Formats: sequence, C-alpha cells, structure tokens
Amino acid sequence: MKNITVLCGGMGGARFLQGLRHGLAEGTLPGVAPDATITAIANTADDLWMHGLKICPDLDTVMYTLGDGIDSERGWGRREESWSVKDELAAYGVEPTWFGLGDRDLATHLVRTQMLEAGYPLSEVTEALCRRWQPGVRLLPMTDDRVETHVAIADPDSPSGRRVVHFQEYWVRLRAEVPAKTVVFVGLEAATPGPGVVEAITEADLVVLPPSNPVVSVGTIIGVPGVREALHDTDAPVVGLSPIVGGTHVRGMAQQMLTSIGVEVGAGAVARHFGARSAPGGVLDAWLVDERDADQVADVEAAGIACAAVPLMMTDHAATAEMAAAAIRLVSSPPGATA
Ligand code: GDP
Ligand code: CA
Repeated sequence: MKNITVLCGGMGGARFLQGLRHGLAEGTLPGVAPDATITAIANTADDLWMHGLKICPDLDTVMYTLGDGIDSERGWGRREESWSVKDELAAYGVEPTWFGLGDRDLATHLVRTQMLEAGYPLSEVTEALCRRWQPGVRLLPMTDDRVETHVAIADPDSPSGRRVVHFQEYWVRLRAEVPAKTVVFVGLEAATPGPGVVEAITEADLVVLPPSNPVVSVGTIIGVPGVREALHDTDAPVVGLSPIVGGTHVRGMAQQMLTSIGVEVGAGAVARHFGARSAPGGVLDAWLVDERDADQVADVEAAGIACAAVPLMMTDHAATAEMAAAAIRLVSSPPGATA
C-alpha cells in the first residue's frame, strides 16, 4: 500500500492523521510501505469570512496539529497565543466578538487572504501555508469554491420562528446548545472538487473515513459533486471509523448534527447512513465500531458493510495508530472472515 487518502474534518480528523502518521513511522500499519503517502482531503464548509479575512478552521486545525503548532488543550488555534487584536477589536465595539481570533493565528489568515485576493485558489494557498508547517501529509481542500454550512435554529423573535446562523456561530457562540432544526450547505451542489481530490480517491490504495463529524465534516466532503462517485468507482477499499462511541460523540457536536438530519446517534446508524458501496449512493466497504458497540456489528454487516469492534478512543498516537491498523486489517481479511 503506497497511497492512503483520508477524508477529514478538524480535530477528530487531525488526531486520526497524527496516529496514522505515527503508525507509518513506527512500521505498525500492516501492508503499508514505509514511504507511503498520506493525502488528507479536508472539509472547507466551516470556512468563513470575518473582519475581511478568510478563515478555514478545519484546514488550520489539521495544519497546526500535524505541524506541531496547535494549542492541544483547546484543540484549535496556535499554542502560546495572545489576544491583543481581539481585545482591540472588542474595544472598538466591532462585531462579532465571539470568534477566537488569536494574534499568531491572525498571520495565517492574513497570508491566506492576501493570496486569495491576488488570485490564487485555496488549494495553492494551502500548499503555500503547508510549506511552513510541513504537516507530513498532502493537505487538499475538498474544493476551491465557497461552501458554507448554515444551521437553522429556533428563534421565537423571528416571524418564521427560526433563524439561520453560520455553522461557526452555532458552534462557537451558541456552543451547539440550542437544537439545530436543519443544516444547509450553501454552495455545495455547485462546488467542484479541488485539484487532486478525485485522483486522490481513485488512485488510492486505501480510503479512510476517520472519526470526524459525519454530517458537517465527512458529509460535506462526500457532498461535493463527484466525490461520492469517486468513492464508488475507486478500486481501493473504503473503510470508516465510528465517530460515535457508546451512543455519544466523544467531543464535538456530532450528536446535534446527526439529530438535525434525522439519523440516530449510534455507531451502526452512522454506517447505515453512509451506506454500503454495493448499494446505490453508498460509500463504505467496512466500518469499525468501538468495543462497547459490539452489539451493532451484526446490524452493520446486514447492511452489506464488513464490521469489527475494537477500541476507538484516540487517547494517544499509539492507540490511534492501532485503530488505523485495525481498519487496514478489516479490509485486508477475506470476505466473511472479519477479525
Ligand atoms: P471538528 O471539525 O473539529 O469538529 O472535527 P472532526 O469533524 O474531524 O471530528 C469531530 C468528531 O470526532 C466528534 O464529533 C466526535 O464524534 C469524533 N471524535 C473525537 N474524538 C474521538 C475519539 O477519541 N474517538 C472517536 N471514535 N471519535 C472521536
Ligand atoms: Ca470542523
């Protein structure tokens, strides 16, 4: 195996990629060449414009995490951050004030915005930013086009009884504490896959759906027209790892997002939502659930998806590398002989 492609969101995707990279370096991934390339196709539907700057939360989380610049306690933004600009903006009374725009982080957004305004596509900007961070993976935005996830929430003050907010406002300002009625992916249907995205899937030896948010991270990537087809057409096995463990997301807000699209919050339910590659529109050959969800293995298998139960908590790089190894073993074992 020489090419592994991962469809990732921010924190869950970044942690998985760290473990995968660790397994590659330690030689613990069965059948994977030591010089294999990891390509990460990242969600860009969380992106937003703020104070005239283009901010790409998931791309930056992956880049900073793998480039060892992340604040690992917060799970986003730069380590040893300061907040002078944010405080100064607040002193001017400039809205919005809820978004954590750190001084160090700001440099990334300035470079990105300048390059975009000079006419470079996001994919080239990302490549340029990665020259500094050396994440050890090829990082590709899912699309160069503008796509934004918006969330409809209940608002008794609005004539329609609801209000639509940007996904970041839902997550950061509202802490995902109000029920999401629907999620809308503005621009997704008209988006085209970024350069190299389709090839990274069709020419891969293995495609992995890591434990990322199934709706607003992996769901949006698969929703870029052409990506679902590429997943269907590739000769590589497609294996996913459940972001739901024991009926809850571990961290994040996968629960709220699944509920908003009417999918049960369960490891098996998420697999059925993605669907078997043998079924129309389905993308999965195999799916890992956590040990405590072992009772759901039969259900997933009944949907035509190979399944096994293993520990799925990304507690450290070694544990995460072992999850990746288990995913590889699951798609490498003969049909019916799920480990
Ligand atoms: P975000 O963009 O920062 O929200 O990150 P992702 O979309 O990549 O991943 C967030 C999701 O990862 C969460 O909603 C959880 O469901 C899942 N997650 C986080 N940590 C773990 C873990 O240790 N194990 C598993 N199985 N899932 C996790
Ligand atoms: Ca995200």
